[in-house]
Amino acid sequence: MSFWHALGQTLRGAAEGFIRTGKQIMGASAQVIRKVVETARDSLDEVVRRIQRARGDANSEKEVVERQLQEVNARIARLRKNHQQNGALTGREQEEWKRLKARRDQLIDDLQNLDTAEFAQDVVDEASEYKTREVTEADAHLIDMVTGQSTYGKRCRACSRAMVLQWERRAAAPSLRDFFWGCSGWYVKLANGRSACTHTERLADADFRIFANVKRPEFQVTATELSRRVLDPGRQKRLREALDGIREQNRTSSVGISQYRCPVHGESLRLRRKNATADELLDEYFLGCPQWLPERLGCNFLIKLKSPGRISAVISEGYGQDAMKVLDA
Ligand SMILES: [Zn+2]
Ligand SMILES: [Zn+2]
Repeated sequence: MSFWHALGQTLRGAAEGFIRTGKQIMGASAQVIRKVVETARDSLDEVVRRIQRARGDANSEKEVVERQLQEVNARIARLRKNHQQNGALTGREQEEWKRLKARRDQLIDDLQNLDTAEFAQDVVDEASEYKTREVTEADAHLIDMVTGQSTYGKRCRACSRAMVLQWERRAAAPSLRDFFWGCSGWYVKLANGRSACTHTERLADADFRIFANVKRPEFQVTATELSRRVLDPGRQKRLREALDGIREQNRTSSVGISQYRCPVHGESLRLRRKNATADELLDEYFLGCPQWLPERLGCNFLIKLKSPGRISAVISEGYGQDAMKVLDA
């Protein structure tokens, strides 16, 4: 583990003070940007080269780590089952439980480092495309698209777990004032069924200043235009086909959509579709944890694709630069 530990230390040092959500940095002051570009060019660039020399590309390495994580989670689930059946764990099982939990934390850490390395790689490769942008109501979708995605560098004041961008559930197409930071401890259920933490925070003005690759398709449209495209009844068939394509890929691959991870198990989420066929595309699909089991026996963490931004974000992850072709015409 020494290689990953060293990598983690370097990245953490370099990325201190940044809030990264998915593929963008929030709260980007000129000073922060200078630091990002500098560190990306120097230390992070070097780290990425080291990964490539030592281990091949970050993507396949992520797959290896993710598979190890799945194994660890499966073993933890087996111990939980033993506990339920026998009322207690044996001394040896307790030892194993502790070891597995520590191993899981380590693997989740490795995945976060790999995600950061990948982001750094993109900043280095596409330096001229990275710009700061002040998000206004007209492009509220830029925030909507990263809601539910893994966030680094934004910790809960109450419990220090990672915070995740959310929006007021009543809003169909969220506007800027509907967004807030919610603690990921909300999804961690205690024995009494309550959430481990329910802390929320409003977004600071600075959070609307983002640093991102503006070549990405979503930067070419307004929030209104994106909503129109996603909600247009004439496009629903095409969008469902596109989403089903991603769903099929998630089903057969050992990795899901890596911008979204379960806050408990750390695994990348998989795109799924509700059994009941809805008339409307909103709320028909969701991202679920691979540790899900029927009858609430497994992990119930899920992210509903209930807004045009979230649907576009998943299509964007699945199709990259071709995402707008799916949403076009
Ligand atoms: Zn918290
Ligand atoms: Zn989970």
